[in-house]
Amino acid sequence: MASLYEIPIENINGIGTKRGQLYRKLDIDSVGALVRFYPRTYEDWSNITGISDLTVGETACVKGVLAAAVSERRVAGGRLLSSAQITDGYSHLKLVFFNNRFIKSMLKPGEEYLFFGKVTASGGVKELVSPAFSKSSSGNMIHPVYSQVMGLSTKQIEAAVKKALAMLPENIKDPIPESVREKYDLIGLKDALFKIHFPESQKDISDARRRLIFEELLVLVLGLSSLKSLPEKESAVKLTVNYTDDFLKLLPFRLTNAQKKAIDDCASDMLTKTTAMNRLVQGDVGSGKTMVAAAAAYNCIKNGYQAAMMAPTEILAVQHFQTFEKLFQETDIRLRLLTGSMTAKQKRLVLEDIMLGLADFVIGTHSLISDTVEFKSLGVVVTDEQHRFGVRQRSALLSKGNNPHLLVMSATPIPRTLALMIYGDLDISIIDELPPGRQIVDTFLIDDSKRLRAYKFLMKNIDEGRQCYIVCPAVDNTDTGLVGAEEYAKQLKENIFKDYSVAVLHGKMRASEKDGVMADFIEGKIDVLVSTTVIEVGVNVPNSTIMMVENAERFGLSQLHQLRGRVGRGEAKSYCILVSNAKGEDAQRRLKALCSTNNGFVIADEDLKLRGPGDFFGSRQHGLPELKIADLAENINILQDAQNAAKEIMNDFSDKSNDGFKGLRAEVRMLFGNVGQQLN
Ligand code: ADP
Ligand code: MG
Repeated sequence: MASLYEIPIENINGIGTKRGQLYRKLDIDSVGALVRFYPRTYEDWSNITGISDLTVGETACVKGVLAAAVSERRVAGGRLLSSAQITDGYSHLKLVFFNNRFIKSMLKPGEEYLFFGKVTASGGVKELVSPAFSKSSSGNMIHPVYSQVMGLSTKQIEAAVKKALAMLPENIKDPIPESVREKYDLIGLKDALFKIHFPESQKDISDARRRLIFEELLVLVLGLSSLKSLPEKESAVKLTVNYTDDFLKLLPFRLTNAQKKAIDDCASDMLTKTTAMNRLVQGDVGSGKTMVAAAAAYNCIKNGYQAAMMAPTEILAVQHFQTFEKLFQETDIRLRLLTGSMTAKQKRLVLEDIMLGLADFVIGTHSLISDTVEFKSLGVVVTDEQHRFGVRQRSALLSKGNNPHLLVMSATPIPRTLALMIYGDLDISIIDELPPGRQIVDTFLIDDSKRLRAYKFLMKNIDEGRQCYIVCPAVDNTDTGLVGAEEYAKQLKENIFKDYSVAVLHGKMRASEKDGVMADFIEGKIDVLVSTTVIEVGVNVPNSTIMMVENAERFGLSQLHQLRGRVGRGEAKSYCILVSNAKGEDAQRRLKALCSTNNGFVIADEDLKLRGPGDFFGSRQHGLPELKIADLAENINILQDAQNAAKEIMNDFSDKSNDGFKGLRAEVRMLFGNVGQQLN
């Protein structure tokens, strides 16, 4: 099987350079890839509906005898219209075809055919327009339907797949060992490949799907476990004294019960367990996760270790650094900031301090995982807004210590099963309580026609001393056609908001510029901050009370909820205004869901239902590789089986000298791309 990936797609009869390019557009570059290009859906011709039972709008297969010869006539525009009547012995049905002069010779009166198509109605009479058909007694009854590109039809793909399957060797090596297949009742690979493309029954489809989904998830789970540095090992970081009470004295406010519980969970992990802490803290935006991180870091530092905290953006790292500077000002804790935009000299000094143990608590961005960073004795690693990081980045930071404790924080509630897969045996603390006095943010959905009123509303709030965010989906509008932050800020500055101070903030700006704008905003020198989603995570400016989002339909619900979480952080009433002209039912439903609840868990659930789990982990670079057939939200049961199987075979799989697992290892490498190379 593996070698088929080395045979270019053009080696298939009938596929030349030109057509080969079309296949490559579908990411099919080899015979192997074509065999693994599974149908999007099927047309089931075996499930026959009686003519009188047909429902308008549904796709159906009808078996019928042609009642009379096909009649032809020209209609408006010179189009050829062929029509025919069929009967199933009880009722009649009209068929219509356009511009196909072969219909008359292909459909013969008195003969029986199968017709497949969507039932429509014309003048109250049901009909099939241009249905597919075949002689009723011939061939396969279930036809695969493939995703197509312009110039390449599903029929053509089907024909090519047939040829590709014929190229499979007589005995292909199944990457899933027989023992696993037997235990989990899975059909063989070759069988599965034939059945997924050319099933003879619905059972064939479900058997094939189950086997292929299992395989994909097994590969995923094995890959993820291999990437993990094993948290079950005994930790070299030993805390002996619990300093939580000292920590509480530093706080300017009283913790919520949920915060306290999470802090105690961490302390008990680090003080009483022999293995390293491996804990996820989930809490809605604004629930006060930062203090949990601070407490864990404080405990480690007081016990003589270093702490590291990684944030996904520079703005957030700086903000955390400032929070901790204030919180720990009366202590002897030495804080350091490490970000990509620092000068080489600044970095060198910080790196030295980290290595010599002169830095106790290091806050930074991805820079923390670069090779040049070496800790003297790393005790705990905290990753903030975990969903923004990949598995790889987390393990890279962990590897800088001798199996240190791990605390991951996320505002995006991750469904339990998915969390288990990504983090392994991970303990979870949930902060389901907001600090007292926290505002419910009122959320409105408007379209362009109300924009002016929205601006006036912003002004009214600014006149009362507040600040506002306007978030755009893109930096500029050149190739997106969307509202671009830069141009938009300029327009607002020159027109509507000319008596106010407007600034722009986006990821393409230099770090020093960004810091400058952010500092001005925090100091209240800026009234309206036009921004991209760089402010999505964590930014905390309590005086800003309005979050206006342009092209709101462009964002995921969880992302919008994050954005909304930037306001409502102070005493004043806060608002979120979603601007969207999208009329689609889906878009409307999603945005309205956001208006109706402030509960991040409810929203995440809705997001999962509507958009699948992709949103939880972002694109490939942030987390999981792309899956071909498995769906993490839908295939939870198979996922559990695959997880169990992975546990059972993990030892053999990791043993590079065990040739029986070569195939699986190759698949892991393929799924994980570059990351997978490490598994070699
Ligand atoms: P998130 O969970 O979104 O990371 P933060 O940790 O940034 O939330 O906290 C949001 C804000 O709430 C911060 O300004 C923080 O100082 C404040 N805060 C946190 N905990 C409490 C508390 N128990 N009482 C009052 N304010 C709190
Ligand atoms: Mg936070």
